[in-house]
Amino acid sequence: MIPAMTTALPVLRPDLHPPKPPRAPATARRPGHLLDSHGRRIQDARLSLTDRCNFRCIYCMEPGDRFLPKMQLLDLEEYIRLVDILMELGIRTLRLTGGEPTLYPQLDELIQTIGQRGLDDLAMTTNGSLLDHDRLVQWRHHGLRRLTFSLDTLREDRMRTITRSRTSVQRVLESIEQARRAGFPRPKVNAVIIRGINDDEVPDFAQLARDRDLDVRFIEFMPLDSNRAWNRDHVVNADEMLEAIRNRFTLRPDMSTGPHSTSMNWHFSDGAPGRIGMIAPVSRPFCGACNRLRITAEGRIRPCLFSHEEWDIRSMLRDGSDDREIAASIVDMAWTKQAGHGIDRADFVQPERTMSAIGG
Ligand code: SAM
Ligand code: SF4
Repeated sequence: MIPAMTTALPVLRPDLHPPKPPRAPATARRPGHLLDSHGRRIQDARLSLTDRCNFRCIYCMEPGDRFLPKMQLLDLEEYIRLVDILMELGIRTLRLTGGEPTLYPQLDELIQTIGQRGLDDLAMTTNGSLLDHDRLVQWRHHGLRRLTFSLDTLREDRMRTITRSRTSVQRVLESIEQARRAGFPRPKVNAVIIRGINDDEVPDFAQLARDRDLDVRFIEFMPLDSNRAWNRDHVVNADEMLEAIRNRFTLRPDMSTGPHSTSMNWHFSDGAPGRIGMIAPVSRPFCGACNRLRITAEGRIRPCLFSHEEWDIRSMLRDGSDDREIAASIVDMAWTKQAGHGIDRADFVQPERTMSAIGG
């Protein structure tokens, strides 16, 4: 297990941050654009639908973590309104996440509505434990384009230890196949690799990508865990993971990867199906190309995963502000996006929120 350095975090204090960011300069106000002060254009949003989860992954949540009261969470109409405003501001791609997004009671209605709005991409990240074929078919039909599954081990005993749940590896693999049958393109699998926990499975995941024609993406462990046990020694960096894979397979770089992709990707040189990718925020930060904004389930805008500043948009959705006023505030919020996460700096401080409370 990852040794704990402090006890679990208290529930987030709702009034910790000032509700309004400083006003962005006139140069930030270009119709259909969301810009930050470092010259990046933001076109991708991550929408967290809940902070709840049926798993308690050791690198994310603790069994004793408390959840936000339901009335603090955005409701369906607020989500839809926010998505429309974000699209007016130039957001082109959206990922639904959480917590576990499939626990959001109005997920079907949300997908049905925003799936028709003309986004370039609508995707969702899930632990794959609560899916069924009929819902998958419906989501696909209503405009959900891609699914990413989280799976960190291929061993049943470890699955129980890592997720602290009774969901089996087999169940998640079945969900992945159901998604394929429902018409989703090659599903992605995210595997967070932690030294001493599952680092010996890296080549097995590459084998899984080949056997099942999957996009397996290895993720470096980030300091966003609830028990604050992260330290550098736990991180298996992308180079180490690549070496472990290259000991078994020959790889060639995938040249089709876009400029804003968070992963570096490879095909198998022998032409086998599947692809592997490395998401290496710790050893190879990609902040310079980051075009993202995150919205938490209670309507806080976080310009960066590692922000210590976040801004309240929920109160504006509830206080009679019109869409133009809300959009103007989001422009101010985006402008505050920090240049980088600074994990490699001596003065790095882990944000108060965990990955599950942000929306990963
Ligand atoms: N519950 C869904 C799931 O697990 O796919 C969606 C939310 S989860 C927070 C989104 C992604 O964040 C998952 O792929 C998970 O593995 C990843 N994640 C969570 N905590 C992490 C950490 N400390 N470091 C790296 N990735 C993390
Ligand atoms: Fe839940 Fe996803 Fe966090 Fe695991 S990683 S505890 S499935 S939110």
